[in-house]
Amino acid sequence: MDRLMAIQGVEWLILLIITIVAIYLVVKFPTLRLGIGVFFTIIGILLFLIPLIGPILGALPFAFGLALIVWGAVSLAHRKENKTLQQPVLTRICPKCGRNLSNFPGDIKNCPYCGNQLI
Ligand SMILES: [Zn+2]
Repeated sequence: MDRLMAIQGVEWLILLIITIVAIYLVVKFPTLRLGIGVFFTIIGILLFLIPLIGPILGALPFAFGLALIVWGAVSLAHRKENKTLQQPVLTRICPKCGRNLSNFPGDIKNCPYCGNQLI
């Protein structure tokens, strides 16, 4: 029963501090979400192993960790999507002479090589 008493005292405080720090880091740094999510899932699984009160203690960190993993994965996928959208293909080729016009301004009216009118 000594173990039970200890959990109700100092370990609760440590868990609370870890939770507050983790929430702060997670909001501030989106890339940390996955790592902290895994961390909380492991804490949840470890708490599940404690007899009697384990499942009650472990349920919250476990659910919190899983939610963070999903949130992190979604935001990482979203970030990747934005990156691909922000980098459009800039290769422009003159339809008449086939030369690369990428280094010229986008609003040129005629091809600098052959004078072909560009649409
Ligand atoms: Zn041309």
